[in-house]
Amino acid sequence: MNTECYLCGSINNKTVFLENQIPILECLNCGHIFSSYEQSDHYDGYWGEEESKEFDLEWWDKAHRKVYSTFIQEFLKEKEGSILDVGCGLGFFVKSVMNQKPKWNVIGYEMSKTAVKFAREKNGLTNVFEGMVEHSNIPKNSLDIITMWDVIEHIPKPKPLLKYLYSLLKPNGFLFIQTPNFPIQLIKAKLKVAIFGMKPNGHYLEAKDHINNYKLKTIRDLALSCNFQEPQFFMLPPILSVSGSTNFMGKFSKLGYYHVTKWIWYLSFKTVFLNNTIFALLKK
Ligand SMILES: [Zn+2]
Repeated sequence: MNTECYLCGSINNKTVFLENQIPILECLNCGHIFSSYEQSDHYDGYWGEEESKEFDLEWWDKAHRKVYSTFIQEFLKEKEGSILDVGCGLGFFVKSVMNQKPKWNVIGYEMSKTAVKFAREKNGLTNVFEGMVEHSNIPKNSLDIITMWDVIEHIPKPKPLLKYLYSLLKPNGFLFIQTPNFPIQLIKAKLKVAIFGMKPNGHYLEAKDHINNYKLKTIRDLALSCNFQEPQFFMLPPILSVSGSTNFMGKFSKLGYYHVTKWIWYLSFKTVFLNNTIFALLKK
């Protein structure tokens, strides 16, 4: 069990949630929240054989299409450029870039063998590579954009990775991070337990997978400690699925929640952030 803060190294903390005997801790020095569960840096079990066999390609593709295409329209404005997707999973974002921006040079890196096999065989991608991106030999100062979709929360030691990615970016390049907004996830998890009780296999805060849990402040702390500029936060449309279900009411309430939180964010002059997800842009 780890009790040392991954951002500041302090061992002073308190438990904010107990997920089936695994304490999730809040650092009393910097406010960072992390799971006490010790996960290997090389863990690649997020995409098991089971998941990719049962995986509904069409559902995943549909659910992510809007958020990916909005991002591409908004941030890949130049005709040509180079982009790296770290932790690219099954390769759907890489594929979206290729479809929408055929002149861009895009590659993906992914730790999971199973996911890379899927990306190559089922998605037909030859530009998705297996392994740690730190071993990629990508030249320094060569990339315009690096993306991490739902990845940073899985990384036990984010600082060495971010410093490495910083070195790969061109002087005007940026790193894009998408990650769950922890304060909202915590409220949802507490409500779920209050209503239904804690189930042994229930999904709450993914204590074994989400090792670091971010909020706006700690994304900022992490960015600045890795030499990035002040991060810019913004909002993109939600991923249109609720725990894998394509239920109409689920989609509808998710979209409604997104629009309401977007208004609150702007009306509060970007001080009240209630969205489910953080989108951050870290410029070099
Ligand atoms: Zn700390």
